[in-house]
Amino acid sequence: GSTVDQMKTLYYKARAQGVKLLLRLLPRNQSVVYAGRGSALDLCRQVPTFGHQKVLLVTDRFLDGSGLLDGIKESLQENQLEFAVYDGVKPDPEFEQVQAGNELLRSEGCDAVIGVGGGSVLDAAKMIALLHHNPGDLAFFDGIQKAKKPGLPMFAIPTTAGTGSETTPASVITDSKTHRKIAVADGKLVPHYVALDADLTRTMPPHITAATGMDALTHAVESYLSKASTPTTRELAAGATRTILEHLPRAWRDGNDMQAREAMLTASFHAGVAFGRTSVGYAHAIAHQLGRVCGTPHGEANAMVLPEVLAAYGECVHGTLASLARKAGMDVDDDLSAARALIAGITELRDEMHMPTHPERLNSEDIPGMVKAAEAEAGDIYPVPRYLSRQEIRAIVEGLIQDS
Ligand code: NAD
Repeated sequence: GSTVDQMKTLYYKARAQGVKLLLRLLPRNQSVVYAGRGSALDLCRQVPTFGHQKVLLVTDRFLDGSGLLDGIKESLQENQLEFAVYDGVKPDPEFEQVQAGNELLRSEGCDAVIGVGGGSVLDAAKMIALLHHNPGDLAFFDGIQKAKKPGLPMFAIPTTAGTGSETTPASVITDSKTHRKIAVADGKLVPHYVALDADLTRTMPPHITAATGMDALTHAVESYLSKASTPTTRELAAGATRTILEHLPRAWRDGNDMQAREAMLTASFHAGVAFGRTSVGYAHAIAHQLGRVCGTPHGEANAMVLPEVLAAYGECVHGTLASLARKAGMDVDDDLSAARALIAGITELRDEMHMPTHPERLNSEDIPGMVKAAEAEAGDIYPVPRYLSRQEIRAIVEGLIQDS
């Protein structure tokens, strides 16, 4: 038991130093950001001036069918830019969808990629753009900075708020054989152009607003607690936390509250910038297992475990959580009360939005494998404030089993 745990912790700590250094030194694309309502159309009007002949518009079938992209398509047509549409991206995209998009890109002779959608679409679009000059299978990309050549020019227009994928050096792609989610990390995945246009997030129904908003909050909080955080990332993460706690309930209640929609889109972008430099923590490590084993949507899975993970870290994070609570506008004197107030605030937010508290299809026989995988994921790539023991992780996952 404890000697093994100590050895493991030593190994994880050494790895975390390496990850911290990599995150700091990782060369990344610079992106140009268009912001404000209508900015997606502004960006699309600009695309022909960059000299592209034909672009691949990547999205999913629901969004394409809903008419959300009509304005974008019209604006491309008006500006005489040819495009082909790949709408085969599914939630938690598999590599086969990336390959199919890439084949269409080739056969249509496209020379740039525009992704319009949630994190699933943006992750797939980013990989399609990268794959063009870097042929390989998913195993080849598994890891950090595996691609040798830059990808095609990539334009990202998020329709959820969100994953932050429009700014992160990562694409989360599922291996269809093992169902494992692989985080491809490469600075060449950072989109070159971004439009933060809340007109495109307005149509999210409440449950997707809630799930994607809690994903952004989890990014902000886990980034703030990361050992790789810097004053800049902490400022971005704290600002995002404050904004999300205030505006997410508003956007959930009234999807047409455009002030709340705009605030959420900016916050999820800032949280993305922050965690793209610091990585995340155990909430994500456990949420990925819930996605893999139970099919729980990513944001819902994060929301199910974030307060519990924060509580499990215990005393070592009280000071940090307290400073985050104060920056988020909570007026509490001592650190312990401030930390508890923040955790309670997150729990209340999740309850207020009637989010599911238990995953469907979680069986006790799946738990050991999930715990092991979550432990390894956090140990391998997340600079967490403290390494949780297997028992501590198991307690969090077991708490998710529905009492019947
Ligand atoms: P999603 O992209 O899977 O979309 C969820 C559903 O919402 C889909 O059915 C989609 O059609 C719908 N939808 C999207 N925008 C809508 C809109 N404006 N109106 C109505 N419906 C809309 O959800 P997501 O949470 O944005 O992305 C999740 C994926 O992103 C996961 O695969 C996750 O692993 C990944 N992710 C990536 C990063 C990164 O840094 N690259 C970070 C976090 C999560």
